[in-house]
Amino acid sequence: MIRALVFDFDGLILDTEVPVYRAWAEIYEDFGQRLELELWQGVIGRGPGYFDPLAALERRLGCVLDREAIQARRRRRELELVERLTVQPGVREWRAEAMSMGVRLGVASSSSRAWVTGHLRRLGLDEWDCIRCRDDVARTKPAPDVYLSVLECLGSSPGQALAVEDSEPGVAAAKAAGMHCVAVPSAMTAGHDLRRADLVLRSLAERSFAEVAAEIAGISG
Ligand SMILES: [Mg+2]
Repeated sequence: MIRALVFDFDGLILDTEVPVYRAWAEIYEDFGQRLELELWQGVIGRGPGYFDPLAALERRLGCVLDREAIQARRRRRELELVERLTVQPGVREWRAEAMSMGVRLGVASSSSRAWVTGHLRRLGLDEWDCIRCRDDVARTKPAPDVYLSVLECLGSSPGQALAVEDSEPGVAAAKAAGMHCVAVPSAMTAGHDLRRADLVLRSLAERSFAEVAAEIAGISG
């Protein structure tokens, strides 16, 4: 029986990964550099401590840049692109279904709390039993910390909880926490190895939450 449903945020609820990449790629272009897509795909889902695009750009150019000005420009562009996005298909339906079934709802993200809660509020998706972000834990995904923290907060055992993820580090984090996991690759994570997930869907709209939860509980049962 699935009693808790925990969503990743970036790439899963909102496909922010494309805007985040594009905003950085444009900064690189301004300096005559190319931010390789393949490099970025290996960074996704790991949190900001893993790769610092600005430090990498400085190393390539061999000089120190005006970090604050660049970050401000990058953030403005990122926000402009993210605000054009709509919630990924099936997310609202899965939430509503889970709520009506009395399943507890959580978010587990390697991004900052301000980023996650700001966008959720703007999208009218601000009702959650628990949200855990990188601010709340020592290690971001693929470490299980953020999932373990959300499970503790929800009062759920990992075996009764289902994570929904779009990236390889995200799936690794959920599985390391002992949870069930459904993977839905996003545009930027289509090349990720998601085979550790219990189920891979092209979109959450493909199946209902009730159906997937019953199937997964059956597998583990
Ligand atoms: Mg993600």
